[in-house]
Amino acid sequence: MAASHTSNAEPEFDETTPLRRVHVLLPLPLASAYDYAVPMGEHINLGDFVSVPLGRRAVIGVVWGEGSADPDNAVAASRLRPIAERLDVPAMAEVTRRFVEWLADYTCAAPGAALRMTMNVPAALEAPRPRLAFILAGPAPARITGARQRVMDVLADGMSLPGATIAELAAVSSGVVRGLVKQGTLREVQLPAEMAVPEPDWQQQGETLSEDQAVAADALRARVEAGGYSTTLLDGVTGAGKTEVYLEAVAATLAQGRQVLVLVPEIGLTAQWLARFETRFGAPPLAWHSDLGTARRRLTWRAVAQGRAKVVVGARSALFLPYTDLGLIIVDEEHDGAFKQEDGVIYHARDMAVLRASLGEIPIVLVSATPSLESRVNVETGRYDTLHLPNRIGTAELPRIEAVDMRAEALTESRWISETLITAMNETFARGEQVLLFLNRRGYAPLTLCRACGYRIQCPNCTAWMVEHRFHGRLQCHHCGHNQRQPDACPDCGAEDALVACGPGVERLGEEVEALFPDVSRMLIASDTVRGPEAAAEAIRQIAEGEVSLIIGTQIVAKGHHFPMLTLVGVIDADLGLQGGDLRAAERTYQMLHQVAGRSGRAQRPGRALLQTYMPEHPVMGALISGDRDSFMDQEEEARRNQGLPPFGRLVALIISGRDEAQVSETARNLARAAPRQADVDILGPAPAPLSLLRGRFRHRLLLKCQRSVNASALARAWVDQVDYPNQVRVAIDVDPYSFL
Ligand code: ADP
Ligand code: ZN
Repeated sequence: MAASHTSNAEPEFDETTPLRRVHVLLPLPLASAYDYAVPMGEHINLGDFVSVPLGRRAVIGVVWGEGSADPDNAVAASRLRPIAERLDVPAMAEVTRRFVEWLADYTCAAPGAALRMTMNVPAALEAPRPRLAFILAGPAPARITGARQRVMDVLADGMSLPGATIAELAAVSSGVVRGLVKQGTLREVQLPAEMAVPEPDWQQQGETLSEDQAVAADALRARVEAGGYSTTLLDGVTGAGKTEVYLEAVAATLAQGRQVLVLVPEIGLTAQWLARFETRFGAPPLAWHSDLGTARRRLTWRAVAQGRAKVVVGARSALFLPYTDLGLIIVDEEHDGAFKQEDGVIYHARDMAVLRASLGEIPIVLVSATPSLESRVNVETGRYDTLHLPNRIGTAELPRIEAVDMRAEALTESRWISETLITAMNETFARGEQVLLFLNRRGYAPLTLCRACGYRIQCPNCTAWMVEHRFHGRLQCHHCGHNQRQPDACPDCGAEDALVACGPGVERLGEEVEALFPDVSRMLIASDTVRGPEAAAEAIRQIAEGEVSLIIGTQIVAKGHHFPMLTLVGVIDADLGLQGGDLRAAERTYQMLHQVAGRSGRAQRPGRALLQTYMPEHPVMGALISGDRDSFMDQEEEARRNQGLPPFGRLVALIISGRDEAQVSETARNLARAAPRQADVDILGPAPAPLSLLRGRFRHRLLLKCQRSVNASALARAWVDQVDYPNQVRVAIDVDPYSFL
């Protein structure tokens, strides 16, 4: 009876009550989690976000497990420090914790570095503070100024907005807002501390699907309804209506009340996609990208953690949001190189998304018109399923792709557009249709050369030429961002008026177009000319609605967009991506050019693409022209198989870098000496990297190549762990490298 007597009271403790010990993983590059004591009477669960003392600091971490992280070397109970506080945030789901561990293991990162990617919004972990806002509440003030009027206009439709937003929209100082509060014109109100997230309505009907689409959509629906892990490659030509198909899988997941993640290579230009989603489901998804302001980031993170955000669309970092019940992942444009993160924890978001799906026992759909060789091989070996959409929607046909043999075109100096392309452009403008000129090079010219002495202007921090940006009158390094004024005289020999721009960038192409087609309205789109998502959305809208006739752009216009009036694509330098030739150069060039050609002829009018090339007989051009993707990819696959290259073998790169060249090369040699010696493992290097200087750091590389059966991550980690090297030297491990620079 005594027990029932005390059951509702506070538990009582004395010295004999055993101490509860847990280990807490901190978002720091430490070798393991640290042990802490749970204060008496505290309810602490696995996955809880807690504040703990570390030296003199307080650090926020996640309760990772019961007992000691390292039972053999555990800190004595008497010296154990207690957890300071449990934070008011939903606990990190078990599957997210397992994901962090797997990710760290696979990428050879410290677990804490992997954890940091899931909690890099510190403000989201703090208790929400009430947000203040203002509404129009009283009569206009006696004295009306322009600034005051603009504030009243901003709030005219009865909205309540935070002071900073009002000040920004009305272009006034915060003093103007405060003044209007004093006058009684504005009243302060409290906004809810958390963001309201409108729920997408899965019951709304989408487009009536074509027969092919319906078959694919039914298959995806069935996957979602069956539950469990599966990977499906949705392989369909550009304009086949793949988005419409996977939105059906999204609807099926929403019907189960679960969350959906849509990963896209770059979020900057997804405005069309967002609008489409909203039309389909009556509410927008939550977007996640690096341009989000802190407040928005914080609110989004919390809405995901609380399970209120149902659909997130984002770039690779969206994979690390704290989903409570993720039920489906879509990876759109799965072949895209932008999914590879090259700094910090080096990972491929597509591959890690597949890992996340398998840990969470949920379906994942990889979407592309030009699937990666990796995914193709996974389909062939039965690891992935596949669904095909071989035709464009409606009456649209795939564009006709032709090569323009530049050896036969007589181009004068500083001209990049061939007669053949000019003729085709004139015909297209005459029909009132649009042209896209594609050149994947920002700026005016990739190289500035001195005619007097031959000097080439190079970045002081990188093995790279400075790229001229004539709009801004500056030279810029595309690797480190270093920029300087365009000099008047040669920095080396001092000759005046001797510097010449070599080669074209999109800005220079703009000049040529101006001379050739002075009356044609045009727009230049590159990541440095269109700043921010809003500007990008506006540019895309203008193109889609036919307000410009000619678009000059880099790869940011090549992806995903639907421009009904666009019927001619001219690729200025189709050979560009084939230079330098890493193992994926041909595959990537094919994907990129297919993608950009696929922007044309997506509606009623037939499309055409002209590829300016000096190698019209190259297999990549052949495959684009004939449309025989599969034979081309079969050949690529055969070549990789013969050479034991991915996905048939594994690669791990070590990048050794530091400011002291001697230290770097010595570390590289020491690593080479300690390299694993086994029959199924080859070591290449060490050698200075092609980018032997980057951001002021010297770089050397080593490459480990092994059979698929070898655990390459474990091997690489053990290898690097054996070698001591100076603190100033960094050794980065890149598992499954995509860049060899
Ligand atoms: P993909 O992603 O395969 O390139 P999209 O999904 O963007 O193709 O579809 C191309 C265009 O066709 C879009 O404008 C889309 O709205 C439209 N579309 C797709 N499916 C249908 C359909 N079943 N009925 C009508 N229009 C459709
Ligand atoms: Zn540089």
